[in-house]
Amino acid sequence: MVLTVDKLHAVEILDSRGRPTLSVTLATGDGVRVRAGVPSGASTGSREAAERRDGDPMRFSGQGVLGAVGSVNGEISDALAGRTFASLADLDAVLVELDGAEDKSRLGANAIVGVSMAAARAFAASTGVSLWRTFTGLLGSPRLPVPHFNVVNGGVHAPNELDFQEFMLAPLGAPSVAEAVRAGAEVYGALRKLLLGRGFSVGLGDEGGFAPEIARPEEVLTLLVEAITTAGYRAGRDGVAIAMDPASSEFFRDGAYHVAGEALTSDGMIDRYEEMVERFPVWLLEDGLAESDWAGWERLTARLGERIELVGDDIFCTNPAIITEAIARKVANASLIKVNQIGTVTEALDAMQVCQDAGYAQFVSHRSGETEDSFIADLAVGTGCGHMKSGAPARGERVAKYNRLLEIENASRLPYGLGDARS
Ligand code: PGA
Ligand code: ZN
Repeated sequence: MVLTVDKLHAVEILDSRGRPTLSVTLATGDGVRVRAGVPSGASTGSREAAERRDGDPMRFSGQGVLGAVGSVNGEISDALAGRTFASLADLDAVLVELDGAEDKSRLGANAIVGVSMAAARAFAASTGVSLWRTFTGLLGSPRLPVPHFNVVNGGVHAPNELDFQEFMLAPLGAPSVAEAVRAGAEVYGALRKLLLGRGFSVGLGDEGGFAPEIARPEEVLTLLVEAITTAGYRAGRDGVAIAMDPASSEFFRDGAYHVAGEALTSDGMIDRYEEMVERFPVWLLEDGLAESDWAGWERLTARLGERIELVGDDIFCTNPAIITEAIARKVANASLIKVNQIGTVTEALDAMQVCQDAGYAQFVSHRSGETEDSFIADLAVGTGCGHMKSGAPARGERVAKYNRLLEIENASRLPYGLGDARS
């Protein structure tokens, strides 16, 4: 597989929140043209690769990305155009070196990740294979991931009083992506009816989940179980289980976790999670504790690590070095994987490899600000990581990824589910 970059071009487009982001087009020497859309987070980890934003208050309240667009059309283009690369890793290494900053802030991680994603797609297109096939053989064998549908939004993704950011439906017991998508959509519909019937708003948060005025996470979990069973599914690992991403760094202040009016210590928070795991079919907990609370994370992992999947997002930032440290300290047992958190596809694959080698699971993820780009679906399938989250089973930028899984399922007949090791 070799790739000759002919032309690179970026433009400023809008993401799903109505904020500027980049669309990057790459044309190859053999006449292939591909495009990538750059995602953007809101509840970001402090050690994430840094987006470059213009900061001009007269445009998009400072959120413009014309500088990052300029990085692609100027320096990056100058460095790549006309060159031939033997692998994506080689091309990504040039991007990392060209930027020179640890956090990719000089050219902008948003510029770099767009080029890296477009290049991955160009390698696939040049050889005439589906994108997911280029990720096979690196980690596990390819499989269709369990989609995790975020159906209730809170935290910084919605203006309601709910402190926890995400409540997801995980159809672990479904036989296929098609049936998982059906379950997600049917339960989402049942939940909408339940909420309406109880006088709650069915307005949506940033990831397409409902954003009712409910403060207590246990109340949301009760509603979810009701919605799952009303829709005709079993609530649990043999049917539709529940996953939560409280994104707790956002409500950790002055050494305490602030949940529904209470201030809890790390241990108080761990007790609360343990009760939830006992009362409800919660199978996965992401960012249960804050990114700065490593000691708390060690205790959380000791208490719940054998029972549920504990995913590090803000605490790990898809960073192989941080994940390596976490493995040594027995912190979490899984990592979220967001390509733009680290800045290149190659480094995200490295992070997945570090996890794989240590028996840590990998959970491929979208961002709260998205485009219609379905890149993560192919990444999740090809690496065989077993699960992926892309928001609600509604809204174009969310369903683009789920619909891509359906397409791959139809064309490939790959197996579905978490995989032998964890099912
Ligand atoms: P973000 O949220 O994209 O706003 O960072 C997603 C998450 O916390 O998983
Ligand atoms: Zn998260």
